[in-house]
Amino acid sequence: MENKYISIAIDGPSASGKSTVAKILAKDLNFVYVDSGAMYRAYTLAVLKASLDPKNEEESDRLINKIDISFDHITNHILLDGKDVESEIRGNEVANNVSYIASYKNIRLFLVDLQRKIAKGKNIVMDGRDIGTYVLEDAQIKIFLVANEEERARRRFIENKEKGIETSFEDCLENIKKRDYIDSHRSFCPLKPAADSILLDSTKLSIKEVTDKIKEIIKEKGF
Ligand code: C5P
Repeated sequence: MENKYISIAIDGPSASGKSTVAKILAKDLNFVYVDSGAMYRAYTLAVLKASLDPKNEEESDRLINKIDISFDHITNHILLDGKDVESEIRGNEVANNVSYIASYKNIRLFLVDLQRKIAKGKNIVMDGRDIGTYVLEDAQIKIFLVANEEERARRRFIENKEKGIETSFEDCLENIKKRDYIDSHRSFCPLKPAADSILLDSTKLSIKEVTDKIKEIIKEKGF
Protein backbone atom coordinates (compact mmCIF):
# COMPACT_ATOMS: atom_id res chain seq x y z
CA MET A 1 0.00 0.00 0.00
CA GLU A 2 1.27 3.46 -0.82
CA ASN A 3 2.46 5.52 2.14
CA LYS A 4 -0.09 8.30 2.66
CA TYR A 5 2.30 10.31 4.80
CA ILE A 6 5.03 12.49 3.33
CA SER A 7 8.60 12.42 4.62
CA ILE A 8 11.14 15.08 3.77
CA ALA A 9 14.77 14.22 4.56
CA ILE A 10 17.30 17.04 4.73
CA ASP A 11 20.89 15.93 5.14
CA GLY A 12 24.21 17.70 4.85
CA PRO A 13 27.38 18.71 6.67
CA SER A 14 27.50 20.76 9.90
CA ALA A 15 26.04 24.26 9.83
CA SER A 16 24.85 24.01 6.23
CA GLY A 17 21.53 25.53 7.31
CA LYS A 18 19.59 22.27 7.52
CA SER A 19 17.86 22.92 10.84
CA THR A 20 16.86 26.50 10.04
CA VAL A 21 15.40 25.50 6.68
CA ALA A 22 13.79 22.29 7.98
CA LYS A 23 12.08 24.17 10.82
CA ILE A 24 10.61 26.79 8.46
CA LEU A 25 9.43 24.12 6.00
CA ALA A 26 7.78 22.09 8.75
CA LYS A 27 5.98 25.17 10.05
CA ASP A 28 4.80 26.32 6.60
CA LEU A 29 3.66 22.82 5.58
CA ASN A 30 2.26 21.97 9.02
CA PHE A 31 4.54 18.91 9.27
CA VAL A 32 6.28 17.60 12.41
CA TYR A 33 9.94 18.61 12.62
CA VAL A 34 12.63 16.28 14.00
CA ASP A 35 16.17 17.54 14.60
CA SER A 36 18.07 14.24 14.70
CA GLY A 37 21.36 16.02 15.48
CA ALA A 38 19.80 17.30 18.72
CA MET A 39 19.25 13.66 19.72
CA TYR A 40 22.97 12.82 19.28
CA ARG A 41 23.79 16.00 21.19
CA ALA A 42 21.40 15.07 24.03
CA TYR A 43 22.98 11.61 24.28
CA THR A 44 26.42 13.28 24.42
CA LEU A 45 25.23 15.62 27.17
CA ALA A 46 23.97 12.63 29.15
CA VAL A 47 27.38 10.90 28.77
CA LEU A 48 29.18 14.03 29.99
CA LYS A 49 26.76 14.51 32.90
CA ALA A 50 27.30 10.87 33.96
CA SER A 51 31.09 11.53 33.93
CA LEU A 52 31.56 8.86 31.25
CA ASP A 53 34.21 9.28 28.54
CA PRO A 54 32.70 10.12 25.12
CA LYS A 55 35.87 8.87 23.43
CA ASN A 56 35.29 5.43 24.96
CA GLU A 57 32.62 3.42 23.10
CA GLU A 58 32.03 0.82 25.79
CA GLU A 59 31.52 3.50 28.47
CA SER A 60 29.30 5.61 26.22
CA ASP A 61 27.14 2.60 25.30
CA ARG A 62 26.11 2.23 28.95
CA LEU A 63 23.30 4.77 28.61
CA ILE A 64 21.53 2.92 25.76
CA ASN A 65 17.89 2.28 26.78
CA LYS A 66 18.60 4.05 30.10
CA ILE A 67 17.85 7.62 29.08
CA ASP A 68 14.73 9.15 27.62
CA ILE A 69 15.18 11.46 24.63
CA SER A 70 12.10 13.16 23.18
CA PHE A 71 10.84 16.41 21.67
CA ASP A 72 8.39 19.05 22.68
CA HIS A 73 6.75 19.40 19.25
CA ILE A 74 5.31 22.81 20.11
CA THR A 75 8.65 24.48 20.89
CA ASN A 76 10.75 21.97 18.85
CA HIS A 77 13.02 21.75 21.91
CA ILE A 78 14.79 18.53 22.85
CA LEU A 79 14.05 16.90 26.21
CA LEU A 80 16.46 14.66 28.13
CA ASP A 81 14.63 12.62 30.76
CA GLY A 82 11.78 15.11 30.43
CA LYS A 83 13.98 18.19 30.97
CA ASP A 84 14.40 20.86 28.27
CA VAL A 85 18.13 20.81 27.37
CA GLU A 86 17.86 22.73 24.07
CA SER A 87 20.37 25.41 25.07
CA GLU A 88 22.70 23.06 27.01
CA ILE A 89 23.27 20.84 23.96
CA ARG A 90 24.51 23.79 21.84
CA GLY A 91 27.59 24.48 24.01
CA ASN A 92 31.22 23.80 23.06
CA GLU A 93 31.71 20.68 25.17
CA VAL A 94 28.85 18.86 23.46
CA ALA A 95 29.88 20.16 20.00
CA ASN A 96 33.43 18.90 20.53
CA ASN A 97 32.36 15.39 21.54
CA VAL A 98 29.15 14.62 19.65
CA SER A 99 30.82 13.14 16.56
CA TYR A 100 32.54 10.45 18.67
CA ILE A 101 29.18 9.46 20.15
CA ALA A 102 27.56 9.48 16.69
CA SER A 103 30.20 7.06 15.37
CA TYR A 104 29.16 4.27 17.79
CA LYS A 105 26.89 1.77 16.05
CA ASN A 106 24.78 0.69 19.03
CA ILE A 107 24.06 4.28 20.05
CA ARG A 108 23.03 5.03 16.45
CA LEU A 109 20.70 2.03 16.40
CA PHE A 110 19.11 3.19 19.67
CA LEU A 111 18.53 6.73 18.32
CA VAL A 112 17.47 5.61 14.82
CA ASP A 113 14.81 3.44 16.40
CA LEU A 114 13.51 6.48 18.30
CA GLN A 115 13.63 8.62 15.14
CA ARG A 116 11.58 6.09 13.19
CA LYS A 117 9.05 5.78 16.02
CA ILE A 118 8.60 9.56 16.15
CA ALA A 119 8.17 9.71 12.35
CA LYS A 120 5.67 6.85 12.10
CA GLY A 121 2.18 7.90 10.98
CA LYS A 122 3.07 11.56 10.51
CA ASN A 123 4.01 14.02 7.82
CA ILE A 124 7.57 14.75 8.77
CA VAL A 125 10.60 16.93 8.06
CA MET A 126 13.74 15.37 9.56
CA ASP A 127 17.25 16.74 9.25
CA GLY A 128 20.57 15.03 9.92
CA ARG A 129 23.35 13.11 8.19
CA ASP A 130 21.80 9.71 7.32
CA ILE A 131 18.10 10.46 7.05
CA GLY A 132 17.82 9.94 3.27
CA THR A 133 20.31 7.05 3.20
CA TYR A 134 19.13 5.09 6.23
CA VAL A 135 16.62 6.46 8.76
CA LEU A 136 13.86 7.37 6.28
CA GLU A 137 15.15 5.55 3.22
CA ASP A 138 11.70 5.74 1.62
CA ALA A 139 11.34 9.52 2.05
CA GLN A 140 9.62 11.01 -1.00
CA ILE A 141 11.78 14.16 -0.89
CA LYS A 142 15.52 14.01 -0.15
CA ILE A 143 17.67 17.12 -0.07
CA PHE A 144 21.43 17.23 0.46
CA LEU A 145 22.26 20.76 1.59
CA VAL A 146 25.83 22.00 1.32
CA ALA A 147 27.72 25.31 1.65
CA ASN A 148 31.41 26.09 1.70
CA GLU A 149 33.33 25.72 4.98
CA GLU A 150 34.03 29.42 5.60
CA GLU A 151 30.40 30.36 5.05
CA ARG A 152 29.24 27.61 7.41
CA ALA A 153 31.74 28.69 10.07
CA ARG A 154 30.61 32.29 9.67
CA ARG A 155 26.95 31.29 10.13
CA ARG A 156 27.74 29.15 13.19
CA PHE A 157 29.86 31.97 14.71
CA ILE A 158 26.99 34.48 14.33
CA GLU A 159 24.46 31.96 15.68
CA ASN A 160 26.62 31.22 18.73
CA LYS A 161 27.11 34.93 19.38
CA GLU A 162 23.34 35.49 19.30
CA LYS A 163 22.87 32.63 21.75
CA GLY A 164 25.57 34.01 24.08
CA ILE A 165 27.94 31.05 23.43
CA GLU A 166 31.60 32.18 23.56
CA THR A 167 33.53 31.01 20.47
CA SER A 168 35.86 32.49 17.88
CA PHE A 169 35.40 32.16 14.12
CA GLU A 170 38.53 29.93 14.06
CA ASP A 171 37.03 27.61 16.73
CA CYS A 172 33.83 27.28 14.69
CA LEU A 173 35.80 26.49 11.53
CA GLU A 174 37.94 23.90 13.34
CA ASN A 175 34.89 22.24 14.93
CA ILE A 176 33.04 22.09 11.59
CA LYS A 177 36.06 20.56 9.80
CA LYS A 178 36.62 18.02 12.54
CA ARG A 179 32.96 16.95 12.73
CA ASP A 180 32.62 16.73 8.94
CA TYR A 181 35.71 14.52 8.80
CA ILE A 182 34.53 12.14 11.54
CA ASP A 183 30.93 12.14 10.24
CA SER A 184 31.93 11.25 6.68
CA HIS A 185 34.58 8.66 7.60
CA ARG A 186 32.71 6.52 10.15
CA SER A 187 31.94 2.98 9.00
CA PHE A 188 28.24 2.86 9.91
CA CYS A 189 25.91 5.35 8.20
CA PRO A 190 28.48 7.97 7.21
CA LEU A 191 27.49 11.41 5.98
CA LYS A 192 26.88 11.09 2.23
CA PRO A 193 24.18 12.07 -0.23
CA ALA A 194 21.52 9.45 -0.98
CA ALA A 195 21.63 8.34 -4.63
CA ASP A 196 18.14 9.82 -5.12
CA SER A 197 18.77 13.09 -3.26
CA ILE A 198 18.81 16.57 -4.76
CA LEU A 199 21.94 18.59 -4.08
CA LEU A 200 21.44 22.23 -3.05
CA ASP A 201 24.33 24.62 -2.48
CA SER A 202 23.25 27.35 -0.04
CA THR A 203 26.56 29.28 0.02
CA LYS A 204 25.16 32.23 -1.92
CA LEU A 205 21.48 31.76 -1.08
CA SER A 206 19.35 33.31 1.64
CA ILE A 207 17.25 31.12 3.95
CA LYS A 208 14.15 32.15 2.01
CA GLU A 209 15.73 31.25 -1.32
CA VAL A 210 16.64 27.79 -0.03
CA THR A 211 13.19 27.11 1.44
CA ASP A 212 11.51 28.37 -1.74
CA LYS A 213 13.66 26.03 -3.84
CA ILE A 214 12.70 23.05 -1.68
CA LYS A 215 9.02 24.01 -1.92
CA GLU A 216 9.41 24.10 -5.73
CA ILE A 217 10.98 20.63 -5.66
CA ILE A 218 8.07 19.32 -3.56
CA LYS A 219 5.60 20.78 -6.07
CA GLU A 220 7.52 19.41 -9.07
CA LYS A 221 7.37 15.96 -7.50
CA GLY A 222 3.61 16.30 -7.34
CA PHE A 223 3.07 16.57 -3.56
O1 C5P B 1 23.00 18.57 13.12
P1 C5P B 1 23.97 18.81 14.25
O2 C5P B 1 25.18 19.57 13.83
O3 C5P B 1 23.33 19.36 15.48
O4 C5P B 1 24.46 17.34 14.63
C1 C5P B 1 25.42 17.12 15.63
C2 C5P B 1 26.22 15.86 15.32
O5 C5P B 1 25.38 14.72 15.44
C3 C5P B 1 26.84 15.76 13.93
O6 C5P B 1 28.09 16.38 13.83
C4 C5P B 1 26.95 14.26 13.74
O7 C5P B 1 28.13 13.79 14.37
C5 C5P B 1 25.77 13.72 14.51
N1 C5P B 1 24.63 13.36 13.66
C6 C5P B 1 24.66 12.15 13.02
N2 C5P B 1 23.56 11.71 12.34
C7 C5P B 1 22.46 12.47 12.25
C8 C5P B 1 22.42 13.74 12.87
C9 C5P B 1 23.54 14.17 13.55
O8 C5P B 1 25.66 11.44 13.07
N3 C5P B 1 21.40 12.00 11.60
